[in-house]
Amino acid sequence: MSEAAERLADVQAHIADAAQRAQRRAGDINLIAVSKTHDAEAIRPLIAAGQRHFGENRVQEAAAKWPELRAETPDVVLHLIGQLQSNKADEAVAQFDAIHSVDRSSLVGALARACEKAGKQPILFVQVKFGEEEQKGGCAVADLPALLAEAKEAGLTIDGLMAIPTADIEPAPYFALLDELAERHALPLRSMGMSADYETAVTLGATHVRVGTALFGSR
Ligand SMILES: *Cc1c(COP(=O)(O)O)cnc(C)c1O
Repeated sequence: MSEAAERLADVQAHIADAAQRAQRRAGDINLIAVSKTHDAEAIRPLIAAGQRHFGENRVQEAAAKWPELRAETPDVVLHLIGQLQSNKADEAVAQFDAIHSVDRSSLVGALARACEKAGKQPILFVQVKFGEEEQKGGCAVADLPALLAEAKEAGLTIDGLMAIPTADIEPAPYFALLDELAERHALPLRSMGMSADYETAVTLGATHVRVGTALFGSR
């Protein structure tokens, strides 16, 4: 087994274990391999080991490495997990199968126009931020109902919620809150959990975990 295949098997085993503890089916949890900063040479062994979902945080970086990798493996599913500028909405809709960082009105408008032009819509997650901490992206919990209503009005289907709790806090209460918010708004998907806490996220309802370091080593 390649080192990449071993890491992948290890993360999959931990997901299966956490799912079992929570009486969930492991097949309901999508493992996204976060390949930001890693080049095609580092990514290919994971694809060879069977991994299909990948996450990138920059449109530009993804545009530089994924067209070739996708040509080799057409069933790859590409997720945008980083902040998105409205002026890159067209490019993001063209390149990504899912966007996890919808977080404001202006972006909802830009994405609605981009999807209409493209005649397709990626899977969309609204990114929620918790508390007052200075975070780069995310919609405040209090603003979530209005943003969801705007998306609906604009003709977008929002499929789930995403969050990145800050690294220095215990994430479990925030994962539980994200799950509850998704439930309240009848959204089926929850994107939560990274290398340090994906098992906890799985026990609390994650449908998508975003794992970088545990699969690729440190950046
Ligand atoms: C980088 C990143 C991850 C992966 O983080 P690791 O700790 O390396 O697993 C997950 N989600 C987002 C939004 C990221 O930017």
